[in-house]
Amino acid sequence: MKFFSKLFHITSKLYKTTHILIHKAAIMSLKSVQNYVVYNAQHKVLVCKEHQYAITDVSRHFRGDDHSKMSTETRLKIRVATQHLKLTEPDDIVIPGSNSFPIEGLKLVEDGAKCNKCGYITGTLDTMKYHCRQEHAWKAKDEPMWTNQAVQTFYPGTIYCIYVLILAKYRKFFAVTLPMSIENQTIMDQMIEG
Ligand SMILES: [Zn+2]
Ligand SMILES: [Zn+2]
Repeated sequence: MKFFSKLFHITSKLYKTTHILIHKAAIMSLKSVQNYVVYNAQHKVLVCKEHQYAITDVSRHFRGDDHSKMSTETRLKIRVATQHLKLTEPDDIVIPGSNSFPIEGLKLVEDGAKCNKCGYITGTLDTMKYHCRQEHAWKAKDEPMWTNQAVQTFYPGTIYCIYVLILAKYRKFFAVTLPMSIENQTIMDQMIEG
């Protein structure tokens, strides 16, 4: 009986060690491709650093026209490094709350806008104007009824290829809070001090 309990102990320890090693190896291999992709563990999304949006199909994305100059070796390296990741499907993505800091790798649109009336968020002024005209009977001669807002989106609206065109329906902008710039931080500190 003692023997079995000891065996069980060793097996479970071995299992844990192996698990940690696999986890470490996974982080290491993700690091080896950090020039190309960045993984966000909270949202379980992989962002292409060049295109600054989330990728749903890794091998397909890097095989595409936009990465035609990438070597086969690099493509393979990215595929191997990311194959263990369980990525969130665009349908299941949870849009971050407005107090979140920007998500690393995703394009940061600093001149996005938020509608003062209904809170609608978008990345372009044209879309905001269209929204305000349609929803709130806003006229071009009226004062703007929106506020400047830094935003991001997991999926792009720009059409890079047919595949992305399909993804465009998942484009949803969300507000992000920019970390305070050093300059502002100094002013704040001075105000607090005195
Ligand atoms: Zn890309
Ligand atoms: Zn609105």
